[in-house]
Amino acid sequence: MISVDDYRDRVAALLGTAPATAMPLAAAAGLVLAEDVTATVSLPPFDNSAMDGYAVRATDVSGPVTLPVADDIPAGRVDVRPLEPGTAHRIMTGAPLPPGADAVVMVEDTDGGTSQVTISVPAREGAHIRRTGEDVVEGSVALHAGTVLGHSQLGLAAAVGLAEVRVHRPLRVLVASTGTELIDAPAPLRHGQIYESNSVMLAAAIRGLGCEVDVVRSVVDDVEEFRKVIEPKLAGADLLVTSGGVSAGAYEVVKDALTGQGVEFAKIAMQPGGPQGCGRWQGVPVVTLPGNPVSVLVSFEAFLRPAILTALGHTDVSRRRVRARLNEEMSSPAGRRQYRRGVFTPSDREVTGLVGPRGGPGSHLLGAFTQANCLIVLPEDVTSVAVGDEVEVLLL
Ligand code: AMP
Ligand code: MG
Repeated sequence: MISVDDYRDRVAALLGTAPATAMPLAAAAGLVLAEDVTATVSLPPFDNSAMDGYAVRATDVSGPVTLPVADDIPAGRVDVRPLEPGTAHRIMTGAPLPPGADAVVMVEDTDGGTSQVTISVPAREGAHIRRTGEDVVEGSVALHAGTVLGHSQLGLAAAVGLAEVRVHRPLRVLVASTGTELIDAPAPLRHGQIYESNSVMLAAAIRGLGCEVDVVRSVVDDVEEFRKVIEPKLAGADLLVTSGGVSAGAYEVVKDALTGQGVEFAKIAMQPGGPQGCGRWQGVPVVTLPGNPVSVLVSFEAFLRPAILTALGHTDVSRRRVRARLNEEMSSPAGRRQYRRGVFTPSDREVTGLVGPRGGPGSHLLGAFTQANCLIVLPEDVTSVAVGDEVEVLLL
């Protein structure tokens, strides 16, 4: 048996890191920067008004005063004239400050006049002015390689003048589910058949990491058929993920089709999700998961998610881990790391929270998984835990 940690490293090594590519900003959400973004302009790019009001010289406004309004500066004016002493320019938020002005008086402190303005308070030098470069300086690194491009980061990339960014290319993942018993809804079920669900889960989970996903559903347990359907689709894929057909029974289609083809099958010291396989088929990385839906989800958490995130350039690939006190006793097989679905309730009195299992250890209990918000991890050397024991919890 291979340990969970060793197998995780093996899967991650298989995928490596995706190459960099240029992407339009709109397509780069959720992806990871492959190189630093250098600001081509400062932010703000010019001194501008932080308020709707009047640009003045502070020395002209030491108390209540009336000044002629010599110009009007809406946002977007590109031909701003200097402010002559003893005058004011009406100015809007974001409009360039006229040379000579050193303060802005907000409109609320004036009568709002357009030919002349009466200002009721003294102006303070520098008031309501947003200075060039006070946020980002031209030529500096605005975003570092390795940054995950969330909406604020994409906004900054746009603001400093980029139309495209270089990111780690999204992986193209082919997801295939196997099993002669599988039927795609809405076709009616016959006794002995079940509705296919793994490919739907895997596609959504993998897409959610920032990959492009293609799906082949419900391939029958026939080696020739499996090869015929999957092989032609390998060419465009960076990764093939299969479910089902890898355990110890007969009719293990994935195992039968890929043994001796570059994919190795092994038993991992975990529950659920023991039977696994990975390797390369026709040069394409392959990860073969067992068929039980909960095994699929746990395998995704334990192996696929960290490997795919690493391939996409992420450095933080782990789920948040917390310690929690158990509110129900549980048992776990010796020598296996058990992942139980749980409900974690944070506590405001303790550093830790409270956690309890949701559903039993059975790897077919998908309904219970949907009500869980965490995985409770019982280490290999633990066979039972009691109420009140502290356990490790992975927050989903
Ligand atoms: P296997 O690993 O192929 O032996 O499948 C283990 C269990 O998972 C069996 O009960 C299968 O019917 C079930 N199963 C396999 N693939 C799927 C799937 N794609 N969707 C739902 N259940 C599945
Ligand atoms: Mg099967």
